[in-house]
Amino acid sequence: TSAFQSVPLAPPDAILNLNTLYKADTYPKKINVGVGAYRDEDGKPWVLPVVKKAECAIVEDASLDHEYLPIDGLRTFTDASAKLILGKNSPAVLENRFGGIQTISGSGAVRLGADFLNRWRKAPVYISNPTWGNHHDIFRDAGLDVHTYPYWNPEVRGLALKGMLDTIKGAPKGSIFVLHPCAHNPTGVDPTPDEWKLIAEAIRAGAHFPFFDCAYQGFASGDLDKDAAAVRYFVEEGFELLVAQSYSKNIGLYGERTGCLTIVTKSADLVPNVRSQMCKLQRASISNPPAFGARIVSMILNDEQLFAEWTQQLKIMANRIIHMRTVLFALLTELGTPGTWNHIVDQIGMFTFTGLNAAQVKVLRDTYHIYLTDNGRISMAGLNTHNIRTFAEAVDFVVR
Ligand code: PMP
Repeated sequence: TSAFQSVPLAPPDAILNLNTLYKADTYPKKINVGVGAYRDEDGKPWVLPVVKKAECAIVEDASLDHEYLPIDGLRTFTDASAKLILGKNSPAVLENRFGGIQTISGSGAVRLGADFLNRWRKAPVYISNPTWGNHHDIFRDAGLDVHTYPYWNPEVRGLALKGMLDTIKGAPKGSIFVLHPCAHNPTGVDPTPDEWKLIAEAIRAGAHFPFFDCAYQGFASGDLDKDAAAVRYFVEEGFELLVAQSYSKNIGLYGERTGCLTIVTKSADLVPNVRSQMCKLQRASISNPPAFGARIVSMILNDEQLFAEWTQQLKIMANRIIHMRTVLFALLTELGTPGTWNHIVDQIGMFTFTGLNAAQVKVLRDTYHIYLTDNGRISMAGLNTHNIRTFAEAVDFVVR
């Protein structure tokens, strides 16, 4: 018998499988609102002009080679990443109580953080219900005991604040809470500043540990500082924390796997210890991170002119998505589509949690060639002025 006899077939990844189905569909007017990747007005991926510039400069730089990066990655990249999320004037930055490790994008940062916590601060971990599906697998595979806290209240199509606070208050002392600082995936619902205060208070009361997963800084509102506000608030309040950062969406480096795990500690002397243990874990999983994406980001973050260009291009992406929200809401209103749809304009970031159910999603896919996940989440970036009316009419049909 084979050594692999007892290995069952794993179910396909829900989102990546949707992409496969979409690609196989030959209908010319098919619409992909499944995968969370930015698309321009013509439904095409967009390489930011500032990224092209940085790439050319890297290729032409004769001093660069293909040697390994250090285990913790490119230092100019991790330092700039930490400052990007924490803010240059963050107390953690001014007091040198921070550090970063370059990771395999946001997913790798979440995993390294999970591995670190599992080894050095093991505790039950609470992730939002719902959340990015990979959170369940990453924290489980890292060896942590995974629980959820309520996040989405379907009745108001908004934040389940009371349930969330009650769960934080009822969790065993010292639990880990994974929080999305902006553009919550999949709901598009973020706590208000006042709600963040209550969340922080409850986390402090339980002596819990906050772990932010920040995959959309600047991509949500178009403003890098605004999207970092929740993390900065926690730091100002004196919390120690981890932040996973991804440059997939906000710089569009998806496949280059460029990310960072940033830590904030109580005192500067703790940073080398924590970083050294993270390096040990990193060495045993990926040895050292890839160079190209980190070089691009480092160049953009550390050059005033390129940074300014990036913030402009970031706004173009964020604003196009926000515009699509307005148009979709207007079309559904014009069609008199049953139900309330304000949440389309109220939600933020890449996704709208439409409230469509799995049966409606199936009709959209089978009859209209429109691809979205069964939970009714749509990626706003998949919509553009050419396809949005078709999309609205299909939604109108399935909810009637
Ligand atoms: N966390 C969340 C909440 C996300 O939505 C994503 C992107 N889908 C990620 C992490 C990580 O993505 P990546 O590994 O491409 O940076």
